[in-house]
Amino acid sequence: MRSISILLAVCLTTGCAATLPAPTPVPWEPGAQMVPQPVHVFLDATLSDSIQQQARQAVEEWNVALGGHLHLQVVSGIPLQAYTEEYSRQHNDILILGVEFSHPMIQRAHVPGGNVSRVIAVTYPYGMAPGALIYLATDKVRYPHDTILHELAHALGAEDRDSNCLGGKVCLMSRTYSGISYIDADAATQVAHHFH
Ligand SMILES: [Zn+2]
Repeated sequence: MRSISILLAVCLTTGCAATLPAPTPVPWEPGAQMVPQPVHVFLDATLSDSIQQQARQAVEEWNVALGGHLHLQVVSGIPLQAYTEEYSRQHNDILILGVEFSHPMIQRAHVPGGNVSRVIAVTYPYGMAPGALIYLATDKVRYPHDTILHELAHALGAEDRDSNCLGGKVCLMSRTYSGISYIDADAATQVAHHFH
């Protein structure tokens, strides 16, 4: 038993997740506009420590992919009820709010077929990205890191893929949770096109 627990510890500390593909760099086109100011990603004070940590990790992965053209900066522990839609619209901020599945902003999600029963998060972008309200149904989400990675892509201008992409494979932007845990070429390319 002792050796098993040591092996497990090694696996955790060296990061089994390191076997995941690295974030795909956003293929910026020559002359693509850089965003000079950091884009703040506010984390709701009601989010658990675990979800906040996974959100930080997702943000860092996007920063690697964005390659400095645009930089996301986490601001945590904010009681986001104090912020209004108008505030976000003016500041290009990204707000990640933790709510229950029954919350109106989850229930009013636009889903093909109108069935919201499988919705675990919704992003409401403001005009041109960046800048969005992300509502996370914390009582439904099972893989916060992957879901936040997907929703941050929306906040950066990427759209859902209704069917599979990239040669029939699932992708980060598949509308239904696909198990993709990293920034893939499709998501990175969508962001580059958005800021073209
Ligand atoms: Zn989506």
